[in-house]
Amino acid sequence: MNLEKILIIEDEHDVADLLAYNLSKEGYQPFVAHVGVTGLRRSQEFHPDLVILDLMLPGMDGWEVFRCLRKERETAHTPVIMLTARGDEADKVLGLELGADDYITKPFSLREVMARIKTVLRRKDSEKDRGRPEVVQSGQLRIDRGRFEVTVAGKVTPLTTSEFELLYTLATNRGRVLSRDRLLDLVWGQEEFVEPRTVDVHITRLRAKLSERSGSEHYVDTVRGVGYRFREQPTDCATITNGSQAHLSTLPRRQRGG
Ligand code: CA
Repeated sequence: MNLEKILIIEDEHDVADLLAYNLSKEGYQPFVAHVGVTGLRRSQEFHPDLVILDLMLPGMDGWEVFRCLRKERETAHTPVIMLTARGDEADKVLGLELGADDYITKPFSLREVMARIKTVLRRKDSEKDRGRPEVVQSGQLRIDRGRFEVTVAGKVTPLTTSEFELLYTLATNRGRVLSRDRLLDLVWGQEEFVEPRTVDVHITRLRAKLSERSGSEHYVDTVRGVGYRFREQPTDCATITNGSQAHLSTLPRRQRGG
């Protein structure tokens, strides 16, 4: 199960409980924190997909919590919906200026909150997917994200999810060397207990699987002391498209009329 995780940082227990109850009813996985410090700790533990943050908190207030969330790498881009009892326009403007994704004034209607949460999460998803090509083609290698399939010389090469993501990440960062840490971040991101060596292990397995059919083509270079880089193939049409062109380049030259 891959439920979207929502962290609620709210000192009023009944409001927090009401939100949590309704969020789980809607199929989300809510976490509740009643003070800022706990909220920050939970955000590091659970990597929420969205944070609902009350501004009026005892001790560390919501503004401070928000700044800390933005400072941490894991939560720097996590959507935040601010919640406050004050219908203060200045607060709202400041919140949105600081980069909050939405701002809800108490008392709120549950329906409104749920609708806003859905909107913010949907926006986040479409931003994540934007610019991610459906098909990546290089030499005999073809990565089809839509079908979650990798072929080498036209033959399907079964990969695990991590291997697929690793290859896709490298291939969509052509020419760029990615460090182990960066790859861990991009491929394994949310998972815990993954160490840099994991990247090496997966690269080794990935190379072994791809080399079965790739002949003289090698797709992943080791850049010593730095990390890994996708290797462009000499005959590469460098097609990163949404499918049609990449498909064309897999046809024999004759059929392309070239
Ligand atoms: Ca409060």
